Amino acid sequence: MKIEKDAVVSMHYTLKNDAGDVIDSSEGKEPLPFLQGHGNIIPGLESALEGSKAGDKLDVTVEPEEGYGLRLQKAIQEIPRTALQDVEDLALGMQLQSQDKDGNAFIVTVAKIEDETITVDANHPLAGETLHFAVTIESIRKAEAVEIDHGHVH
Ligand code: ZN
Repeated sequence: MKIEKDAVVSMHYTLKNDAGDVIDSSEGKEPLPFLQGHGNIIPGLESALEGSKAGDKLDVTVEPEEGYGLRLQKAIQEIPRTALQDVEDLALGMQLQSQDKDGNAFIVTVAKIEDETITVDANHPLAGETLHFAVTIESIRKAEAVEIDHGHVH
């Protein structure tokens, strides 16, 4: 079968940024399973894989708009250092869990540390990046009804 909505796909992948650095890879691990058409993977990759078959190898370039989004300036905030005084070993690049006013958890990255203030960045670490995937389709099967219902692979 071909990759279409409600197909369960397993793929091996290597993800590089524009500079050619490997950001993520399934090499040496199990292939990554996902349910096509349910937003399990970023939109640009999902649409590029549509119609592929098992054994296909694809190189896919995904622009930020179809990947993890653009970097938003408003997602970068300065907060008083005292607000993080309970965090041990505060360091650049550290990821902290925060909460919005509705109580939803989200992750921020420590982007700058100054005497009085800390700059935290709630952009996804890959926001603004053009992504280069090398993908091999390992297998494709029809999803079970419960998988389609839940929107993910069991
Ligand atoms: Zn489930």
